[in-house]
Amino acid sequence: MALSEFDLIARYFSSLGPRPKTLLLGVGDDCALIRPPPGMDLAISMDTLVEGRHFLPEVDPSALGHKALAVNLSDLAAMGAKPAFATLGLTLPGLDDVRITPDWLAAFAKGLDNLAHTTGIALVGGDTTRGPLSICIQVHGWIKQGEGLRRSGARPGDLIYVSGHLGQAALGLKLRLGHWQTSHAMAQPLLEALDWPQPRLALGQAALQLASGAIDISDGLGADLGHICRASGVGASIDAARLRLGPALKLWLAQTHDWSVILGGGDDYELCLCCPPEQSPALEAAAIRLKQPLTCIGRIVEGSGVHCLMPNGSLQPLEHSGFDHFKDNG
Ligand code: ADP
Ligand code: MG
Repeated sequence: MALSEFDLIARYFSSLGPRPKTLLLGVGDDCALIRPPPGMDLAISMDTLVEGRHFLPEVDPSALGHKALAVNLSDLAAMGAKPAFATLGLTLPGLDDVRITPDWLAAFAKGLDNLAHTTGIALVGGDTTRGPLSICIQVHGWIKQGEGLRRSGARPGDLIYVSGHLGQAALGLKLRLGHWQTSHAMAQPLLEALDWPQPRLALGQAALQLASGAIDISDGLGADLGHICRASGVGASIDAARLRLGPALKLWLAQTHDWSVILGGGDDYELCLCCPPEQSPALEAAAIRLKQPLTCIGRIVEGSGVHCLMPNGSLQPLEHSGFDHFKDNG
């Protein structure tokens, strides 16, 4: 494709998402210019997706654009932040690569743009370079001063909640890799969870001033709840039987008895929220109002580590079951 770097930026990435009033200058100059609203803290986060590591080469480009932004928005959700601005570091394997056609770029930009509009985040800049296909997005969001939801505030006695259904994306990946098979009807929600994760922004914002600790589940429940425990100096006791499971996960468990996709699978992008018991009715009411499934799965306890009561009655430590790029994940 004979498109220069500057044509490419102008054609596909010059104005994705809304144009909020706080944005004085977007893509095209040396920097974007933003005028922060008074009384707000700025939340910043970054995530990178690398081909072969985070997505398969044959991925649908619009799903890739969506997911690259969604995983970042999930971090804003876990902080209770309102999405504001994003920057995009795009590494493309040569503009003459057979895959990176104008249609591919347009679909990628469209996937990103659609989610940017529905969540109110503006793409204000980035960098474009040549190399192995990877997408790095940095997001910025606003939170009222001092209100950001941290990992460090959980206290013994707090209730532990998770949103949505865990394990759907991890089982979707098994399907895509041909490691499991099921009917089309069972497979559809799993592949949807894998390719089109939905950041729980409204729930995170509703949890402000209610939750004591929060994290988004990207590396598996055990690992991510473990981060809350370490940051808060507490332990967690959860009950596997309380987790919400869709029909495909129930079938998977009946066939394999393998809970690792649910307790340690990655790519859920659901929220794990800890909440003092006196705030829990308000949190549950907010979830109902938002039509967002939210399930109490256990309690924060004195001590350390995450322990899970399994349906067979055994107590299993979960902390090291998550995904770590620098470990052999077997
Ligand atoms: P500079 O050389 O001054 O760093 P660049 O040539 O890298 O600027 O980028 C020109 C403009 O295009 C800048 O405003 C930059 O933020 C924007 N930009 C570059 N790549 C992207 C991208 N992938 N998505 C969005 N904006 C981009
Ligand atoms: Mg410059």
